[in-house]
Amino acid sequence: METEELARRVKAGERRALARAITLVESSRPDHREQAVALGELLAGAGRQALRLGLSGTPGVGKSTFIEAFGTMLTEQNLRVAVLAVDPSSSRSGGSILGDKTRMEELSRNPAAFIRPSPSQSQLGGVARRTREVVALCEAAGYDVVLIETVGVGQSETMVAEMSDLFLLLLAPAGGDELQGVKRGIMEIADMILVNKADGDLKPVATRTCADYAGALHLLRKRPEDPEGFPKAMTVSAVSGDGLETAWQEMQSLAQWRKDNGFWQARRAGQARHWFEEEVRQGLLARLSNSPQMRAQMAALGGKVADGSLAPAAAAQEMLGLLDGQSG
Ligand code: GDP
Repeated sequence: METEELARRVKAGERRALARAITLVESSRPDHREQAVALGELLAGAGRQALRLGLSGTPGVGKSTFIEAFGTMLTEQNLRVAVLAVDPSSSRSGGSILGDKTRMEELSRNPAAFIRPSPSQSQLGGVARRTREVVALCEAAGYDVVLIETVGVGQSETMVAEMSDLFLLLLAPAGGDELQGVKRGIMEIADMILVNKADGDLKPVATRTCADYAGALHLLRKRPEDPEGFPKAMTVSAVSGDGLETAWQEMQSLAQWRKDNGFWQARRAGQARHWFEEEVRQGLLARLSNSPQMRAQMAALGGKVADGSLAPAAAAQEMLGLLDGQSG
C-alpha cells in the first residue's frame, strides 16, 4: 500500500491500517524503516492529543486486571483506548511477561479498544523507541487514551515515563511498614500511586499501605508540575471496580491542571527532544555496528586498548574521526 493511502486509513481510524502501520514501525528492514519515517511525517499533528498513561507494576500486582477493568470503564464513557506494552523480558529471551494472549480478554474483544503486545526487539532501547512511535500512530488514529504498560524491571519504567503524560505506579497491599522496596527513582517519577486489591480481607492492609506511600511521597518531593495534593496515593480494586472512577477523575484533573499551567506542553516538548537525541544516538551506534569496516576497526582499536599500546580516549577519538570521514 502507498504510504499516503496508509496514512489516510490510519487517520480514518481503520484498525487494520493501524495494525499494519505498527508492523511497519516495528520492522527493522531498512526499506520499512524509511516508509515508517515517511508515515510518521504524514501523520504528524493528525488527530487529537490522546492522554498517554504510563503504568508500571511488578508481575502479579494486577496490571492486566486493572487495565481490563479501567479500559472497559473508559470505553463505557465513549472513549477509545489503546493498550501497548514495553516488556523488557521480550527483548532478552523472546519470551514475554506481558504478551500472554489470555490477558485482558474482555477488552481485547471490545471494538473501542486496541491492544498490542510488546514488540520483540533485541534491546530494550529498541522496544521503547518503537513503542514511542506506536503511541504517535494510536494518537493519529484517534484514540483518546493510550495506556503504556511495563513491568518494574531495569530501565523500562524510565523509558515509559519518557513517553507518558502521566506515570502511574500500581502496587500491592503490603504487611508491616516496609515500603515494598520500591526504588526511590520510581517514587520520583510517579505521578500517582495506586494501591490495588483494596477489597475483602486485603482492604485494611491496602489502606495502610496507601497511607505509608502518601507519607513517603510527601517527604520525598515537591515538583513544580505537581499541584496541591499531588503526587497522590490512592486505593483501587481492579476486581470490584472500587476507586477506578475516582482515580480517573484525579488523572483528568492533574492533566488539566498541567495543561492550564504549561507543564503538559513542556513535558511533551522535552520528551520530543529526548527521543530525537535518542534516535541520533542509536543511529550512530548502528553505523558503528552495521559496517564491516567499522566493526573491524573497532576490533583492531579495541585490541590496542586491551594490550595497553593505545589509551581508550585516544582510540575513541580515532574511531569517531572515521565516522566524520564516513559522513563527509
Ligand atoms: P499482572 O501480572 O500485574 O498483570 O497481574 P494480574 O492482573 O494477572 O493479577 C494477578 C493476580 O492478582 C490475579 O490472580 C488477579 O486475579 C489478582 N488481582 C488483580 N487485581 C485484583 C484486585 O483488585 N483484587 C484482588 N483481590 N485480586 C486482584
